[in-house]
Amino acid sequence: MAKEKAKRRILHTNVIVIGLGRFGSSLARELVRTGHEVLGVDTDEKLVQQMAQELTHTVKADCTDEAVLSELGIQEFDAAVVAIGADIEASILTTSLLLQLGVPNVWAKANSKSHGRILEQLGAHHVVFPEYEMGKRVAHMVSGESLDYVPIDNDFVMIKSKVPESFHNKNLAELKIRTNYEVTVVAVTKGDGKYAPAFPETVLESGDQIVVAGQVEPLNKFCRVI
Ligand code: ATP
Repeated sequence: MAKEKAKRRILHTNVIVIGLGRFGSSLARELVRTGHEVLGVDTDEKLVQQMAQELTHTVKADCTDEAVLSELGIQEFDAAVVAIGADIEASILTTSLLLQLGVPNVWAKANSKSHGRILEQLGAHHVVFPEYEMGKRVAHMVSGESLDYVPIDNDFVMIKSKVPESFHNKNLAELKIRTNYEVTVVAVTKGDGKYAPAFPETVLESGDQIVVAGQVEPLNKFCRVI
């Protein structure tokens, strides 16, 4: 029963997104697309109107005001995202109020390391650095090491890569990728864009794409070899 309830909560999260700039609006849209309820808030009337058709609710309001947050019924939300970046004072004030009012899951966007440090010190549950993280990710794609690069934590990464000629027509068991490279092929796509889980008997063909997971060092070595 408790498990069912937890599952339901994850499937239908009620989220308030504060700041509908490029980051906030994209995040809010994706939440709605994946079935969540989103209240989008911004001080900019134009942005609020632009998003009104796409989000569950939108409101023009200044979230640095505690009375405004109470009026919005902030205690009812499962999560809040503070997507204010440039105005650091507004970001800090809003995050601090959300925490004070007991929002259980506060995500805050940081535009710099020092901004992030302050948000962490305040007690924000999650601090994200979109520009910094996306910059790192794109660097690996630009250099041609991988088609995509997703850090899972500091020392664990998932990459998307093309299957090299040397792997053509061999299955994963034969290739002994885990033993030889200390990384794991987790999924394969046969060029139709649909990924399927990889098994020892999965046969790779050059031109296929694979998703590989592993620690940074072995994964870098694997990318240099293939
Ligand atoms: P992005 O890169 O996502 O476009 P940014 O990092 O430049 O954003 P800001 O422009 O500071 O960040 O903030 C994003 C949005 O947050 C803006 O649309 C702004 O109007 C809104 N915003 C700023 N302060 C508040 C506030 N106190 N309450 C609600 N919204 C706010």
